[in-house]
Amino acid sequence: MSGSVLRVALPAPVWGLFDYLPPPGAEPDELQPGQRLLVPFGRGRRCGLLVERAESSEVPPSRLKAALELLDEAPLLSPEHLDFLRWVADYYHHPPGEVLLPALPLRLRKGKPPLPDVPKGIRLAVEAAEAERRLRRAPKQREVVRWLAEQGGAAPLTAFRARFEKGRAALRALQEKGLVTESPPEEPLQCGARTPPPYPLTAEQEAAVAAVAAELRRFRPWLLEGVTGSGKTEVYLRLAQQVLEEGRSVLLLVPEIALTPQLVARFRERLAVPIALLHSGRSEGERERDWQRARSGRARLLIGTRSAVLAPLPDLGLVLVDEEHDPSYKQQEGVRYSARDLALVRAQRAGCPAVLGSATPSLESLRNARQGRYGWLRLRRRPTGGGLPRMRLLDIRGQRLEGGLSRPLLERIGETLDSGRQVLVFLNRRGYAPVLACYQCGWLSECPRCDARQTWHRGWRKLVCHHCGSQRPVPSGCPACGAADLHPLGQGTERLEEVLAARFPRHPLVRIDRDTTAARGSVERLLERVRKGGAGLLVGTQMLAKGHHFPGVALVAMVDVDGGLFSADYRAAERTAQLVVQVAGRAGRGAHPGEMILQTRYPEHPLLQTLVRGGYDAFAEEALAERKAAELPPFSRQALLRAAAARMETAEEFLRQAAAAAQSQGESGLVLWGPVPAPMSRRAGRYRAQLLLQGARRDVLQRVLRALMPRLQRLPEAGRVRWSLDVDPLDLY
Ligand code: ADP
Ligand code: ZN
Ligand code: ZN
Repeated sequence: MSGSVLRVALPAPVWGLFDYLPPPGAEPDELQPGQRLLVPFGRGRRCGLLVERAESSEVPPSRLKAALELLDEAPLLSPEHLDFLRWVADYYHHPPGEVLLPALPLRLRKGKPPLPDVPKGIRLAVEAAEAERRLRRAPKQREVVRWLAEQGGAAPLTAFRARFEKGRAALRALQEKGLVTESPPEEPLQCGARTPPPYPLTAEQEAAVAAVAAELRRFRPWLLEGVTGSGKTEVYLRLAQQVLEEGRSVLLLVPEIALTPQLVARFRERLAVPIALLHSGRSEGERERDWQRARSGRARLLIGTRSAVLAPLPDLGLVLVDEEHDPSYKQQEGVRYSARDLALVRAQRAGCPAVLGSATPSLESLRNARQGRYGWLRLRRRPTGGGLPRMRLLDIRGQRLEGGLSRPLLERIGETLDSGRQVLVFLNRRGYAPVLACYQCGWLSECPRCDARQTWHRGWRKLVCHHCGSQRPVPSGCPACGAADLHPLGQGTERLEEVLAARFPRHPLVRIDRDTTAARGSVERLLERVRKGGAGLLVGTQMLAKGHHFPGVALVAMVDVDGGLFSADYRAAERTAQLVVQVAGRAGRGAHPGEMILQTRYPEHPLLQTLVRGGYDAFAEEALAERKAAELPPFSRQALLRAAAARMETAEEFLRQAAAAAQSQGESGLVLWGPVPAPMSRRAGRYRAQLLLQGARRDVLQRVLRALMPRLQRLPEAGRVRWSLDVDPLDLY
């Protein structure tokens, strides 16, 4: 790479790169792609990333400015990784600077120097949240842990002594508990098993491991389809160990932070390898250190949520995606990438296998497996015994409900609790009630900024919109007619908790949703109580449906499945089926057979009938046939152009112009739907409309988008709308 024009990615909503001259005093050959530069931009200065060097620029020499300063001695990103990130920008049609810079840790993105390496000192040996949880009764030690976390998980001993004058006893206690170690204990690089596997593999697991292990040196996607509790994680562990032993690295993606502690603990226990963790539950400093450890090859197992797929990891030898169907893999703002899909791209570029695991695979992955494009590995049995729970539809038409619960369900809950087993009650709605209403005049707690209702959060005494976050105090009477009483309509988990606690006062109850787990470490704390049998009743939202194992749960109840049956979004059926099966998978791990009850007013609904009779397999078979008939993904490719403006007409006009521009390309394999108002046509005070572009094939759609995007910026209405493109959208709103 030569030339004295520097092509720099900057965080700006502009396509393409920005040209600069080298900073004063810099030797051109000092400058390498992947280094950060401070550059003048507008009236200020920004931190950018050098992407390439060129001989010349389209900017006239007189207007070409010099960069101000080179910020890194060595590149932060390798040419291969830069290339991957540029591919991402290209595929999702997003400005490169808004892909490349957000892929860096926050401080580096802002131009700050990397946190220094800590050569001799102390470091956290476990996640800070986990350490804090174990130190609830040791405030002094907890303080040390917090401080270490703020320092990025490690600090020189001198800094520790300066900060904690009388801290020696606390430090010794932490070391004895194994929560803090002396550095440099970055564990040895050649690594393998720390503890031997606790059990031999089942024949199914053995076959899965052998299949993937037979081709570790080339790209191949695998779908590992196994019912919950069938031992998928064990398969990941064995494969990871083998790849790590060969000196290569492993990327493991998990859907959500709440899932990581158990899983991470299992990997840490089994594999003697430094692990880097990237998820939102960690402090900025911890994340930056771990990003650096992954980048430099010091940590060769990277476990993380969605954005970890953008982190550098040299010598990649295996990519694992747990719960590959999970919608949280899709980024919903900025560059709207799918971490699941990008994981495959990374494996392809690295020439290694990618294993996508799920009990309820996405229809996309299932189709690929059926067509033989992915290897298909199945785990049909739970090694621990215990069958999958029996599913039963409970018709609640005409029944009197108490807080949403029917009499037969309440009775069954009572029986199960009395027999000493746990019950999980699932409702995917937090808060006390989704609406507050006046029976006198019909007033409803509408959000002033959205086409939606504000949810009543009784504990906080507030009305909150779950879409835009707007809040207000609960009015003491009706704001419209002055009537004294307002009434909750429907229920959320908060109300469910109240009803169940009143009905079963002798059985401790734990509620798990975003409201009860906002504080760091609280999910684990609550889950631990459940695991230790300290709670008979578990109430929660989808946080409960994922990943966790509750061996003591013998009854799972879904209060309301009907919500997902009649959505306008064609993916709603898939989501509902996945949710039902995932929730079911929480039960019946122990010796007892589990049971699942679904309350519904539509017991004859084909989706429910298919699920109950044939399980997820049967559902997927039918759903794929329907998608095929309707030419919907995965039998076609979509992109959704969204626009929001102060007036609906403006948003629609912009999209009409966009549609005309797309149409004028004369692609035969392209279908346009819209523009139409979005299902939630007003959100946070803006009117929203959308245009769906559907291509028979990926390359057709990509061609259209490539030509369309530069034209969109120049459309007459472009300055008056906020618009965004979503390639392979998951939600059509
Ligand atoms: P999944 O990831 O599919 O939900 P896990 O790997 O977590 O399943 O396994 C579920 C349970 O079964 C765990 O408690 C695990 O320790 C146990 N297990 C997994 N494989 C085996 C095996 N081969 N023999 C005995 N127990 C196993
Ligand atoms: Zn009223
Ligand atoms: Zn709102």
